[in-house]
Parts: sequence; structure tokens; C-alpha cells
Amino acid sequence: MISVQEAIRLTDDYTKCTQKTITITVPESLRYVLAKDIVSPIDMPPFRQSAMDGYALGSIEEKTFDLVGEVKAGDPQDPSLKKGEAIRIFTGAPVPSEAKAVIMQEKVEATNGKIVVQELSSLHANIRPKGEQIKKGEVALSKGTEITAAGIGYLATIGITHIEVYQKPSIAIITTGNELVPPGQPLKHGQIYESNSAMLMGALYKSGFTNVTCHKVEDQYEATCSLLEKVIDQYDVVLISGGISVGDYDFVGKALTALNVEEIFYKVKQKPGKPLYFAKKGKTTIFALPGNPASSLSCFYIYVLMALKKISGYEDYEPKQSSVISDSYYSKKGQRAEFLKALVIDEKVTILDGQASSMLRSFALANTMVYLPEKVSEVNIGDTLQVINLP
Ligand code: AMP
Ligand code: MG
Repeated sequence: MISVQEAIRLTDDYTKCTQKTITITVPESLRYVLAKDIVSPIDMPPFRQSAMDGYALGSIEEKTFDLVGEVKAGDPQDPSLKKGEAIRIFTGAPVPSEAKAVIMQEKVEATNGKIVVQELSSLHANIRPKGEQIKKGEVALSKGTEITAAGIGYLATIGITHIEVYQKPSIAIITTGNELVPPGQPLKHGQIYESNSAMLMGALYKSGFTNVTCHKVEDQYEATCSLLEKVIDQYDVVLISGGISVGDYDFVGKALTALNVEEIFYKVKQKPGKPLYFAKKGKTTIFALPGNPASSLSCFYIYVLMALKKISGYEDYEPKQSSVISDSYYSKKGQRAEFLKALVIDEKVTILDGQASSMLRSFALANTMVYLPEKVSEVNIGDTLQVINLP
């Protein structure tokens, strides 16, 4: 059994960006990851731009100016402007080359052909310099950046229409378990509702991985072998739920061994999620997640998400962590590291009731997982704790 740190290191070491790239339009690029640096083809703003509705001033040493014209947004002219002269100007309009400052209209009194300013302006006030945001030839967004809504807007402002991004990996979720039935039908004695496929699908979608299909298989060796063989061949990433423990009807490990996958690790000194299994076959990445729902989801956030992001080309792929102050007392029983469902509000963290790996209630309320290293045995109110922020 390996430590959490070792498992994270191996997950990192055995994943790399293997996705092909595609060229797509900027408006459709939300959540894709850039496969190349984007270099700005223009200065932005492309000209000196007024940041205010007001007056462009030919000089800044006086308080009274002759009003000699007007420039509005989109006007191509560059009217001349001398000392003691002002031009009416509007937000976004090109500032005349000779203007020393723009003064906002609220600070000006305008009367027949003249304006009087209440206070003197400083040089270049309210003028956005050419290239203030980015200069032609500078990197606007770098390779490995996920495109957000703001990113789409930003690329559009510099006139980019198409970008090269990494294809999203194809992901198969496989659920195992004879006891599982889909929600929507009555339960017979001994049955429970199948929750992991929808849950993992939700977790994947939340992080922008939408190329996902779900499969299920009975607790039966041959059936497990043949389904796994097929999906490992077809998908970039395979997430198996359940059947990876030591029970007589857990066939996933045996099937993966028979299929000659390269086992990277099996079993991590952690709670929940001890029987986590990580393997590769060719370019396919395989995680067998313990079937208990909270174990599955914890392992997803700690290991799978990071691997998926790395495979997909993210530069920044590690889970987001922070330090917060405990609002709770908690006594840790065993030697394993623990990940506890918790709620952070105003930098204080409350460890929630119901931490068993079979329970999702606390997870459904949590925004964080508290990480308790192996050596910690107790958490006291006021202790500083490391947490993983849930997406
Ligand atoms: P396993 O890892 O297959 O031994 O399953 C451990 C526990 O998780 C058992 O109580 C299973 O019934 C439960 N379980 C496994 N898979 C699922 C699933 N997809 N949805 C809900 N519970 C599951
Ligand atoms: Mg099972």
C-alpha cells in the first residue's frame, strides 16, 4: 500500500498530454485548452482611446477652453487641437493626437462655444494609451490555458477568430454490481440504486469533460473481461466503479491483469478510497474506483481530475488547495490519511457529520475536502487545516 503523496506523484508521472489538437472558432472554445500560445496581432486598444464622455483638452495649464469640434466613437478623423482648445469627446472615441488629457463632462461647465473646468487635469488623464492592455506581438494567452467566457471575449477583442485547442478525451464510465438498479424503478430486497455513474458524469461535466459514455457489467469474470477489453481499446480514459476490492465477486482487478494492463498502483493509505487502482494500457488511462460512492468521488477529485486535466493539456492541473482554520473537533482513528467532507465559510472549516464511505449526504453539502495526513490523530478547534477546494 502506498501513501497519498506517492499515489499523487505516480498519477502525475504516468499521465501526459496525449490529445490531438483541433482548430475551432473562438465562440465555440469555452472550456477547451489552448494547444499554442496566442500572440496578439494588434495593439489593444489600437489607438489612444477616450475612457470618458467629456472633453479632450489641447493643454492642461488653463481652466477655460474654446470648444472647436467633436469626436465620437468610431470617427476616423484626427482633428487638430491647440493650446487653449477643447473638443467634445465620447467614451471609446479616438483621442486627437495633440490632446494632453480628457476631462469628464461632470467636471466641466459648457457655455456657448467655451468650456470652463473646475480643476486642472493631469497629463494623459482619462486616455487609454495605445496597446495599454496588450501590444502587437505579445503573448495574449499561453498554451495550456483553459478558455473561459472572459477568455473568449479577450481573444475576440484582439481579433482572433480561430484557435488550436486540445481535443477533449473520450471517457468511459463502467459500473459493476449485481445489486444496482437505475433510479426510477422499485427496489427489490437486496438492491440499491445505482448512483456512481450519474455522479461521476456530473463531476466530469462540471469540469468540462463532456465526451462521456456509461456502460455497466454484472459481477461476472468473463463479462467483465470482454467489456473492459472493448472500452480500453476504444477510449482515452476508462473509469471503473466498484469490483476492485478483495471480495469473491470483485472481478475488475483480475480482468485487468488478464488484459495485461500496466498496473501503476493498487491501494492507497487513505480513507475513503483505499482500494484505488491506477493503470495504463497503450495510451489509455485506467482508474478503478472503489464502489462506495463517497470513495469514488473522493478519488475522482484527488487523482482522476488531475490526470484528466493533464491529459487534456492543462498547464495548471493540480487540485486547488488552501489553508483554513478548523471550527470542529475530530478524532481520527486509524493510521491512514483521511479526506473529510467539509464546509468552508469565511475561511473557517466545519467537518461535516456522516463521513462513512457509503454516504453521500455530507458530500452533497460540502464545498471542500479536509486533508488529514497519516500522522495526524486529532483535529482541534483553531487548528490550521489543508483543504482541497471542490470545483
Ligand atoms: P464494491 O467496490 O463493488 O465492493 O462496492 C462497495 C459498495 O459500494 C457496495 O455497498 C456497493 O453496493 C456500493 N456500490 C458499488 N457501486 C455502486 C454504484 N455504482 N452506485 C451505488 N453504490 C455502489
Ligand atoms: Mg461490487
